[in-house]
Amino acid sequence: MIEIFYCDQMVANAQSFSPSAGKPREVVASWRKRFPVLDYCEPAPATVEELCLAHDRGYVRGVMGGIIANGFGNRLPEVAAALPYTSGAMIAAARAAIQSGVAVAPVSGFHHACYESGGGYCTFNGLIIAAQVVHREGAKRVGILDFDMHYGNGTTDIIKQLDLNWIEHYSAAADWEEPEQAERFIAAIPNLMQRFADCELLLYQAGADPHINDPLGGWLTTEQLRLRDRTVFERCRQMSLPIAWNLAGGYQNPLRRVLDIHDNTMLECIAAFGDFRSTP
Ligand SMILES: [Zn+2]
Repeated sequence: MIEIFYCDQMVANAQSFSPSAGKPREVVASWRKRFPVLDYCEPAPATVEELCLAHDRGYVRGVMGGIIANGFGNRLPEVAAALPYTSGAMIAAARAAIQSGVAVAPVSGFHHACYESGGGYCTFNGLIIAAQVVHREGAKRVGILDFDMHYGNGTTDIIKQLDLNWIEHYSAAADWEEPEQAERFIAAIPNLMQRFADCELLLYQAGADPHINDPLGGWLTTEQLRLRDRTVFERCRQMSLPIAWNLAGGYQNPLRRVLDIHDNTMLECIAAFGDFRSTP
């Protein structure tokens, strides 16, 4: 059973170029239509204490109180109100994956959120927050596999500042970005994943912005993105490595083009882990 953690409270209008704050609702509406048998659960909001597992307390309080700008560069109360739910979905998916093998948070992972600052549409680093929570609950090593177009600088910053050496982080943008590298990249994924062999959970950012037509990306075709996701899911199954995955970037217009990429990730997830069929 593939659990998806969604609630309307995680959605906001961030008045931004990035559609990410409103995207969970659109992604889930698309999945509900195409994959009606998937299991949807409401996540609990992350507490301030949980947000502080990845961030400076003054930064957390400042953003939640509307004093410090969020990752979209504004102080909109509705964005602040949604933040505990987006991180809450990451926590819930991480816990569920450890229990059942696979789970989904239909939110961005917020990999540009640093220890005491946001940026690049990212406010609180849900990847680190989720990793910290399950680590405190007993997971000794947690992997973060970041296949967004952009480097997870916030993730790296927090790992360094808090000395989280039990996290194994790999961000593809460090090594790959050209269409000419695409085939080599996909062929390299099984080996890349060996670094997570001793992890008890993998957090996977299935970014949609590497798509060749994305205005902020541009190196993988639709089929190559599917192959990327298929390879990750199949390797996880073979390695018995629990996986919690999330969305991340995607800036094509209209949004339907981005939703199609996220639909494909779900299709590949179902093919690897599910035992039911989607409707056409
Ligand atoms: Zn990105």
